[in-house]
This record gives sequence, structure tokens and C-alpha cells, in this order.
Amino acid sequence: MSADSSPNRPRILALPGDGIGPEVIAPALGVLRRLSEIADFHAEIEEGLLGGAAFEATGRPLPEETLAAARSADAVLMGSIGGPQWDGLDRELRPERGLLGLRSSLGLFANLRPAVLYPQLADASTLRPDVVAGLDLLIVRELTGGIYFGAPRGIETMEGGERRGVNTLVYTESEIERICRAAFEAARRRAGRVCSVDKANVLEVSELWREVAERVGAQYGDVELTHMYVDNAAMQLVRDPKQFDVIVTTNMFGDILSDLASMLTGSIGMLPSASLDAGGKGLYEPCHGSAPDIAGQDAANPLATVLSAAMMLRYTLDRPELADRVERAVSRVLDRGLRTRDIASPGTRAVGTAAMGRAVIEELG
Ligand code: NAD
Repeated sequence: MSADSSPNRPRILALPGDGIGPEVIAPALGVLRRLSEIADFHAEIEEGLLGGAAFEATGRPLPEETLAAARSADAVLMGSIGGPQWDGLDRELRPERGLLGLRSSLGLFANLRPAVLYPQLADASTLRPDVVAGLDLLIVRELTGGIYFGAPRGIETMEGGERRGVNTLVYTESEIERICRAAFEAARRRAGRVCSVDKANVLEVSELWREVAERVGAQYGDVELTHMYVDNAAMQLVRDPKQFDVIVTTNMFGDILSDLASMLTGSIGMLPSASLDAGGKGLYEPCHGSAPDIAGQDAANPLATVLSAAMMLRYTLDRPELADRVERAVSRVLDRGLRTRDIASPGTRAVGTAAMGRAVIEELG
């Protein structure tokens, strides 16, 4: 929490962004406003510009004003950014640069990606319903280190003219420690089990990773720690994904495993995410992009963004009971058979983005 806010009066910066962003963020803000009416929770919500919308208004994808507001807010809730109309801009001016700049300026090193499959949507997965129905796992991915950032890197020409590509996998003890800590803290709010995924049979970095994970784990006597090699983890995620509670892993392994895990659930429109800093402050956003193909049609599924707001209540604002309330409301709406187009199936009732948002708000009570 920032110095001038309290748990009951958090300051939230909303960044609708581009494409379906404004359409999906409206229901999520509606949910937060409804909570302000019915619970001891009074969010101060400010809106800002990011991405293509910011470029159009100010000539930059991440205006100074937005960055300052993000720094002083307790949490940031984003819709999505990007669109074909900005693809031709100089790299520095593209919408994606705004989001990357925001993530790095806020020091968001822990990426939390849940893969939850509501039993009502078990048919949406490519796996058998008995394997995935009720799936609820969380991947905690290190986001600012590892092989994507290590030096030296590049493509060089050797003597004789042959070229070679080089990347470096490097993690310091403190980088490993803080991501493990984020995973153990998350596990405490869930089923209390962490599986650390590495390749310690081959990589020295993984040996250190395992050692540090053990050391951090010793400080969390209430959380169970296990280790798994990444190749086995990929296999287990498809064979029996419900065995996992929290998985913690490196940037690259997490990149691959979190996409794999998200597809177990079958629908990108249902998947929230969070990126946290060392103090637990976070940027919350749906996993999907700005979906220009359906923007402006009231066809987008807003539940990934609503569930991102629930994650914000749980992980940054420390209001797990309100997070549960939002998640239960989503579940009840699905029980009623309401579906946006992306999760529709025979026998269910098709609704648009706004109607889906209204239904969740109704179910909040
Ligand atoms: P996308 O996620 O926007 O869309 C992929 C497909 O999923 C599309 O068919 C889309 O209609 C569908 N879809 C996405 N979200 C949906 C929702 N909530 N409800 C129903 N259907 C949904 O990915 P893309 O098409 O590769 O990218 C489009 C733009 O989004 C690009 O400019 C890309 O750079 C940007 N992008 C932004 C983010 C972000 O803001 N974090 C992430 C990924 C892509």
C-alpha cells in the first residue's frame, strides 16, 4: 500500500488500452465499484492512457503522467494494448513498448499465471473432462532475469567465417530467492504446495536454484516444497495437471509451461494474470491481447479481466474474501448458462460483453 492509502481505500490505476481493452475493463471496474457499495472497500479509481490510445493522444505509448500515476497507485489494472494501425510505427512508439516500459519501470519480476478450469467449461479443453475439470494451478514465472536477459548474447562470426549464436543463462541467489518467496507467499493463500521446476541434472544454474529454493522453503514450514525437472513437468501438466498447486520456475521454462497450462483450460477469454514487484504491488491484466477482429462488437469475454481484478484483491490489496466473492459470482454466472461467444456450447445462452459484466455484478449481491 502507498503511504497515503489504507487497505479499505486502495488507489487503483485503470488502463483500458486499445481494441477490446476498454470493453473488458468496464465490467471489471463495475465489479470493483459494486464492491464499494456492498462491502467495506472503497477503491479510488483513476483512469490513464497506455498503448495506441496514449500514442494518439500524446504521441507516446507510455506518457510520463501514466508512469507517475502507476508509481503512486497501489495497483494497476490493464485491459490490453496494440492493433494493426500502429504496427508501422517506429519500434519505440509502438503500443507494446508502452507496456514493456511500464513493467520494467515498476520492477515487476514475478509473473503469476493461474490456469483455472471452471467445471462448467470442462468441454472447452482439448483434454478429457475428468483430467481437467476443476483444475486450479498457478505458475509463478521469473520475469526479468535468466536467459532472456543474460550477457553475453548475440550472433558472432568466428575464425573461418562460421557464425554462432550465444545466449547466457544466469541467475543470482537474490533473484532466485525473491521469486521463490513470491511463490511461497502465493501458496500460503492457496493449497500450500510449491513445486520448483528446474533442470538440475544438467544445468549448474538449476543446481543453485534448487539449493536456494530449499533455503527459502525452510522458512515456510507451512508450505510443502517439491522439485521436478522441466521435461517431466511438461509431461505431468498434460498427464495429470490437478497434482499441482503452485509451480515456480525460471523465465524461459515459465514462458513455455504457462502457455501449455493456459491451453489446458481451452479459453483465452477466461485467463487472468498478475506481475508483482518486491513489495507485492502489481500490474493485473488478462492474458489475451486487444483482439482487433472483435473490437467494438460487444463480443469479447470480459471474465479474464474481471478475474484479474479478483487476483488484485487477493495478491496486492489483501482482501481474499472479496476475491472469493468475485470468483464465486463468475462461477454462478456460468452455472446460469451465460456464455460469451468464445466459450459458447450447445444448450447455453449467448450474451455480449456488457451483459456478461452486468450478470457478474448482479451475482455479487
Ligand atoms: P489476441 O489475444 O488479441 O487474439 C487472439 C484470438 O483470441 C482472436 O481471435 C481474438 O478474437 C480472440 N480473443 C482474445 N481475447 C478475447 C476475449 N476476451 N474474448 C473473446 N475472444 C478473445 O492476440 P493477437 O490477435 O495475436 O493480437 C492482437 C493485438 O493484441 C496485437 O496488436 C498484439 O500485439 C496485442 N497483444 C497485446 C497483449 C497485451 O496487451 N498484453 C497481449 C498479446 C497481444
